[in-house]
Amino acid sequence: MARRIPYALARQIADHAQAEAPKEACGLLAGDGRAITRAIPLRNSAPSPGDHFRLAPEEQLAALKEIDADGLEWTGIYHSHPRSAPIPSRMDIEEARDAKLLHLIVSLERAKAKLKLWRIDGDSVTPIDLVFEGETRADADDQFSLRHRIAVVLAGIASLLLLVAISVSLLPPPPELAALP
Ligand SMILES: [Zn+2]
Repeated sequence: MARRIPYALARQIADHAQAEAPKEACGLLAGDGRAITRAIPLRNSAPSPGDHFRLAPEEQLAALKEIDADGLEWTGIYHSHPRSAPIPSRMDIEEARDAKLLHLIVSLERAKAKLKLWRIDGDSVTPIDLVFEGETRADADDQFSLRHRIAVVLAGIASLLLLVAISVSLLPPPPELAALP
């Protein structure tokens, strides 16, 4: 079954991955059976955080209490692949102990971060559809910024025209030309 995720939350996870790169970033996911509504970043306490992640235990405990206090369910774990595809590695599969927890992987392999959700049950790895909410088009933010830039340019032109109009109206009336002898 597909899971929904607000676009802003996906953005938050991708930003965390980018901030930690070239180390792997990791954290907890919470929500319910249909949607991921919270992501809590945790410290990666793995001895080699460049190609592995381990949720810092003391931070994980605090995050779980926070999830519980907010009436949410702990539904998954996210981590990043700074240089590879968003596909579970051998280590990710071996270390996934609880089949009920979904695994969200953020790949920074390409210029645009890519998120993929997986169910790992023993050796069986199944992709789960992730439905982005709020912004359905992946390039919606680029579209917005283009429109925004056009608006800024138009506003600039309008204020320039207004300024010209004001300075023309403030000019003293043209002196009468002296009659040439
Ligand atoms: Zn991994």
